[in-house]
Amino acid sequence: MSTFNGIIHEFPDIRVDFFRGFDRQPPLACFLSHVHSDHLAGLDRLRSPFVYCSSATREILLRLEKYPCRLNYAKGIFEDPRMQTYKHLAKVLKPIPLDTPTMVELEPDKNIQVTLLDANHCAGAVMFLFEGNGKAILYTGDIRSEPWWVNSIARNPSIIEYSTGLKILDCVYLDTSMLDDLPLQTKAEGLGELLEKVGRYPEDTIFHMQAWTYGYEEVWVALSKTLNSKIHVDKYKMGVYKSLVTKSTDKRFAAQTHLTKEAPYLVGFTCGNNQREGCLTLDENVRIHSCEKGMGCTVTETRPIVWIQPIVAHLEDGRDMVEVGIGGGGDDLAQKPSLDTEDILALIEIISQNDSLLCDFGSEVKQILKKALATSRDIELDIEVSDFTEGESIKEILNSLAKKVTAIRNPIKKPEENGHHYQLPNRIRFPYARHSSLPELRYFVKTFKPKDIWPCTVDPVSWLDRAITIRGLFGDICSGDVFKHDLQMDQLSEARRQLKEKSEGEENEPETQQTTVSRLGPPSSPVIPSIAPPQPCDSNNRNITPTRKFSPTVSSHMPRSRHTNFETAQDCNGAPSSVLPQQDKRDYDSFRHDQDTSVGSDDDEDLILQDSQASKLSAHAYETRLRAFQAARANMEGNGPWNSINLISTTDNHSTLEPDLGNS
Ligand SMILES: [Zn+2]
Ligand SMILES: [Zn+2]
Ligand SMILES: [Zn+2]
Repeated sequence: MSTFNGIIHEFPDIRVDFFRGFDRQPPLACFLSHVHSDHLAGLDRLRSPFVYCSSATREILLRLEKYPCRLNYAKGIFEDPRMQTYKHLAKVLKPIPLDTPTMVELEPDKNIQVTLLDANHCAGAVMFLFEGNGKAILYTGDIRSEPWWVNSIARNPSIIEYSTGLKILDCVYLDTSMLDDLPLQTKAEGLGELLEKVGRYPEDTIFHMQAWTYGYEEVWVALSKTLNSKIHVDKYKMGVYKSLVTKSTDKRFAAQTHLTKEAPYLVGFTCGNNQREGCLTLDENVRIHSCEKGMGCTVTETRPIVWIQPIVAHLEDGRDMVEVGIGGGGDDLAQKPSLDTEDILALIEIISQNDSLLCDFGSEVKQILKKALATSRDIELDIEVSDFTEGESIKEILNSLAKKVTAIRNPIKKPEENGHHYQLPNRIRFPYARHSSLPELRYFVKTFKPKDIWPCTVDPVSWLDRAITIRGLFGDICSGDVFKHDLQMDQLSEARRQLKEKSEGEENEPETQQTTVSRLGPPSSPVIPSIAPPQPCDSNNRNITPTRKFSPTVSSHMPRSRHTNFETAQDCNGAPSSVLPQQDKRDYDSFRHDQDTSVGSDDDEDLILQDSQASKLSAHAYETRLRAFQAARANMEGNGPWNSINLISTTDNHSTLEPDLGNS
């Protein structure tokens, strides 16, 4: 989840992907990279200035529905969520075409040039290249920086000056959602695996693909083409995707514009006098479904279903890393109720007065609330809007948050059973990461060799505890030697040190501190090898090839057993073709009574806590950091009385202590 505070240091007059706190210093222009909810903070209340984005993002946003549920403080209950939309922004949202350097006037005689570049993340998602006043920065938003995509961005004429070394980017504001040093399967490998797996089932099998957020559009295209079936979606999803094909006039055969490359296949197009239908349909009598649960689809409610679940990756030890987004993050395409900042504050106040309300995972639930508040993000609840009963009790809301904790704590699952001819599983997982891990990010950074990197997802406490630095992650492939974010973290570190000294002076309680140390323990992360030390940058070495050590592996990392009966035919572009093995089918009846166990099931034999921002560090550095921040961390973790917890402000990327939030 992005924790970016919207501020681009090189261009202080603009804001990107964060729309709060404008009263202190109103921006002259805003930019929105894509429609995922962690990038929309504050946008519902924005009235000015203009927000620039891609045409697809604009059309999707104008149809987005949001369901904040309001706390009735007097009654101590949550009222029914009321639908909110972004329709009032129609005149504020200004679309800019991709790959087109565009001058935006901030005020008379003050301009900024912006270029939108595809981000390989979800429909409409873009990066922003900002240039002006002798400065240039690239804001990535969220990216899946697969090697083929990096190579295509590098040769894009509107940014080629920076990939060839003619000019140097002052900074890349980078998607650091996932900093694990692990190889990911490419999306093409993931699709190939999915198509091979669905091909094993009988031809009357009904599949449900959990497209719980934007970013799985290509999966729909591949599934629909291969299975030769349309895909049932609910009216909400259909309305959103239909908006991606626009007409110049209302006439039947008026010229159409397709706002994403998948749009014509998804929702149809005209060819001559012919209206071609898209693969998305409201007719439920089809083999593939991506309809929302509880929206009244009689097929998925009454027939046996094979559930298709996208995951982040197959790990090298054979286990799977699942998306914590399912039940643990933003369900942007599902109509789920959410808590906004005001309600989160109210909820914190209530549980501070009555700790007994918290049952399962109490301290983790507090953490979720605190982090959302500290980064000014809404929290989406794991409850269907349709299931939301009038007067939902606070306890039920907290239980829903506890469910999120379970999902976040258990991102690693044992692999699904391999299908045999007599036993095809009723759940199919396939790898399809929408963010990049460290090796892919390093390849991206190495291609541009910017002076500096600013991370857009940071958990400051975790970064300090684990001594994660920009210099350590990317220093050897940047062309500068000053890393602004590291300097800010040093200041935070110093503030924590002083806080610790102060608290030690006030009350010396060695027992409490001992507890904190043993509970923290050394960083545990089974899949994160050590990060290479910074090396001097070779400015002549600008080859667009992955480094050996961090080479994003293009071959599949699936365990060998997964390859049984799987020979991916490839066309000349390396894309898997639709030629699939048809063996190992079994009767539909043989699995019709299976239950869906794909979501929320805790079937892990060995639980592993996966911190997606972790790295190993030297024992000495770790011990030094650890001792320095015992006191501060204890406060952050909520070990002391609730009221004494310090929160970090959203100014300066959450690195300064905020007096308004309880810090002195
Ligand atoms: Zn994001
Ligand atoms: Zn996103
Ligand atoms: Zn359906």
